Amino acid sequence: MTLEPSSSSAPFSAGMPSDASAPASGAVDAQADRGLGLRWQPGIAALGPAFHTRLQGRPVPAPYLVAASEPVARLLGLDAAAVGSPQGLEVFSGNRVPDGADPLATVYSGHQFGVWAGQLGDGRALLLGETDTGWEVQLKGAGPTPYSRMGDGRAVLRSSIREFLCSEAMHGLGVPTTRALCVVGSDLPVRRETTETAAVVTRVAPSFLRFGHFEHFASRERFDELRALADYAIDRYYPACRASDATPGGPYAALLQAVGDRTAALLAHWQAAGFCHGVMNTDNMSLLGLTIDYGPFQFLDAFDPGHICNHSDTQGRYAFGQQPNIAYWNLFCLAQALHPLIGDETLTMAALEPYKARFPEEFMARMRAKLGLPDARESDTALLETLLRLLAANRVDYTAFWRALSRHVAGDALAPVRDLFLDRPSFDLWLLSYWERLPQEGRRLAGDSMLRTNPKFVLRNHLGQQAIEAAQDKDFGETRDLLALLQSPYDEHPGREAYAALPPEWASSIEISCSS
Ligand code: AMP
Ligand code: MG
Repeated sequence: MTLEPSSSSAPFSAGMPSDASAPASGAVDAQADRGLGLRWQPGIAALGPAFHTRLQGRPVPAPYLVAASEPVARLLGLDAAAVGSPQGLEVFSGNRVPDGADPLATVYSGHQFGVWAGQLGDGRALLLGETDTGWEVQLKGAGPTPYSRMGDGRAVLRSSIREFLCSEAMHGLGVPTTRALCVVGSDLPVRRETTETAAVVTRVAPSFLRFGHFEHFASRERFDELRALADYAIDRYYPACRASDATPGGPYAALLQAVGDRTAALLAHWQAAGFCHGVMNTDNMSLLGLTIDYGPFQFLDAFDPGHICNHSDTQGRYAFGQQPNIAYWNLFCLAQALHPLIGDETLTMAALEPYKARFPEEFMARMRAKLGLPDARESDTALLETLLRLLAANRVDYTAFWRALSRHVAGDALAPVRDLFLDRPSFDLWLLSYWERLPQEGRRLAGDSMLRTNPKFVLRNHLGQQAIEAAQDKDFGETRDLLALLQSPYDEHPGREAYAALPPEWASSIEISCSS
């Protein structure tokens, strides 16, 4: 395929695959763990050894509980107290394989920063398995795997707390995401820029499949495996794509289009929330349209489309405003990978194209909700663009603005929102057109719905940093408190105003890189 955007290094030529072979065996029986009562089913393990390597975690000394998410424990049918019990700590540190589980690491490849990176894979993630209720449970940081390359297979406490808190914060906001059950720490030293200590995050999702899983088999022209993987993804996660009339290109084109739809919805959520992912490599793109692999992410403080949250991203490839285009670039890589199964370039492109219209539709729907507008009008795009230009020109804090605007529409004074702007006359003009656009009746209702759409609390870098520094001194209270706040970010939480305040001066000096 030669259509734009070209991947500088598309590493293979397209061709039609031969028929898929039956999935290999290797499934584990559904069996309850003695201690925790988790029951497992085969899940992705049934695809066979071409897709993964069986292995166990490498033990860490004296694991301790940093924090656990009760709602995720409930998802898994676990008692929250069991997570931090001696048995729980053994399992969620990777020190003991739960009964009936047969852990594995999967292989994938991908494009990193726009360049083909070849084979990657779960270099520090161990899939314990899939529960009998369909949740994959994965330990991140449980030791080296055959895909670790030069890495140590570990994750540090700092990045593990960030991933844990942000997974649950995103869920609290209503953004599709992988979940996190707990962070378990150990005093095992881990070398990064400085020496830190190890931690393991237990991540939970229906599937951790990435675009890169498909790129892996396509790049090696292993079309039987590619087809088996696509069939598995369709049967398990996109069954509607199986119907032959779903799209003219058949089930694999339908899969591509459905992933595009979910990705458009995800990107609309990110842009509306002011969330910058930081490393949108194709191996960090979920096939289910979930936010996955929390690394150098950031919620915007001052609104700036050019904001780069990752200090390793020197070119600004993953700047905040670039994210929707990068998602399309990544979908193009997925299209290249699925193309051998679709077999026709026109049909492949036809399945990719809807993203371009879908993203702006989804984005406008989210932004209308933030503005409290119950219906769509053509003029809304101009109203929003004028506002976003003003926010950028005045470097207005993104989260604080939306919350203050919501309060004002709900009946509070204007000053707290107006005072966020230096150029107040321009804001006053915008506000006039906004008031005209808001429904005359039921403004308070609009304000109430805005307060359920525009969060009071997001995981700002400095809040995460405070929790991390306390946890590094073995005080986990801050992490647990912050978790409780972020799980219901639209509630007022009286007395916790400091967590909704503008970032302090020192926040701008926090450097978040790929080091984790
Ligand atoms: P990331 O940028 O975190 O998404 O990671 C990209 C690739 O590097 C994935 O294959 C990871 O599994 C692998 N990786 C990252 N950090 C480590 C580490 N400390 N040890 C082993 N593999 C790692
Ligand atoms: Mg990754």
